[in-house]
Amino acid sequence: MSVLSLINLHKSFGSTHALAGVSFEVARGEIVALLGPSGCGKSTLLTLIAGLDAPDAGEILWEGQALAGTPPHQRGFGLMFQDYMLFPHMNVGQNVAFGLKFIPQNSHEMQRVGELLELVGMKGYERRDVSTLSGGEQQRVALARSLAPNPRLLMLDEPLGALDRTLRERLLVELREILRRVGQTAIYVTHDQEEAFALADRVVIMNAGQVEQIGSPQALYRHPASPFVAQFLGFGNLLVGEVHRVGAGWMLSTAVGEFSAPAGSLSAHREGAVMVLLRPDGVRLAEAGEAFQVAGIVQEVSFRGSVQRLGVRVNEVLLRFDFAGQVPLPEEGAPVRLAVPPEAVQAFI
Ligand code: ATP
Repeated sequence: MSVLSLINLHKSFGSTHALAGVSFEVARGEIVALLGPSGCGKSTLLTLIAGLDAPDAGEILWEGQALAGTPPHQRGFGLMFQDYMLFPHMNVGQNVAFGLKFIPQNSHEMQRVGELLELVGMKGYERRDVSTLSGGEQQRVALARSLAPNPRLLMLDEPLGALDRTLRERLLVELREILRRVGQTAIYVTHDQEEAFALADRVVIMNAGQVEQIGSPQALYRHPASPFVAQFLGFGNLLVGEVHRVGAGWMLSTAVGEFSAPAGSLSAHREGAVMVLLRPDGVRLAEAGEAFQVAGIVQEVSFRGSVQRLGVRVNEVLLRFDFAGQVPLPEEGAPVRLAVPPEAVQAFI
């Protein structure tokens, strides 16, 4: 059941349309990632949900009730930013207790602080000076402080942005486990696709103040709805093409070859211009004598652990494809022939 409903939200700053009609819902206990490039309106959206600013038009509902007249402190929402700022003059326990809006005085309150610290893997750190903690430990304390008041919605705005990559990856896994364990409804803002995919049940991809696509990480990866989404998810091989009917199916011609579109994918389309995506994970090296769609020269081979990436130059276009780490690949400068099955091809009308 959805608890938060955003209905056609608009917000402008002068001539900048920070939000131009954003609508989506968040279910109870769901983790939704807001993903998009800098300036697409992610932080503006959080500010409106938190009640720190009002939309020019549109509505925000919590369990069906409009929040328009409810001030931020009565919304019961929590916010955690990249600059989470622990209080340096308080120890760890006092920082967490601040989230409870009191200084722990009795054993019951201390017990709650202890539980929260245990939840974030910092049991026994109550009396530690926060200045002696590592960046990751500080981050965990900040999370415990945000969770302390039991927010009905927790909004996290790039909370791991300041940390190095290894620590970020580790904390991301922990963060997901912690949010799941307490059944926390959460909105997580990021411009990092891997972070959004690793954490969220559903991802909302935003572009220029609008929602481009909403779906599970798997659904977005399998079926990006637009060239923008495909590009943002790191699919590089986007080509301008022409579509024409051939028998019962469709053919796509591009500067690098002709491809058949998967059955049914273009059923509503007429002949004309399209954008064509060649998925990096869908092609094969053609065997001798086998039909192939792409012939080119290998320009780069890079090893990426579980996959190897092959860069193939075809008519001045550089295409990149991924192969399993064990497959023997041709060397740089070698001619190569690639078979591109229909499922590796997607056309955007
Ligand atoms: P980032 O990832 O860089 O934080 P974002 O997606 O969070 O970006 P927003 O901060 O929501 O983007 O900004 C959306 C647009 O609205 C930007 O063009 C920004 O310059 C503009 N904007 C946001 N707040 C204000 C403001 N208070 N006054 C004027 N313009 C603003």
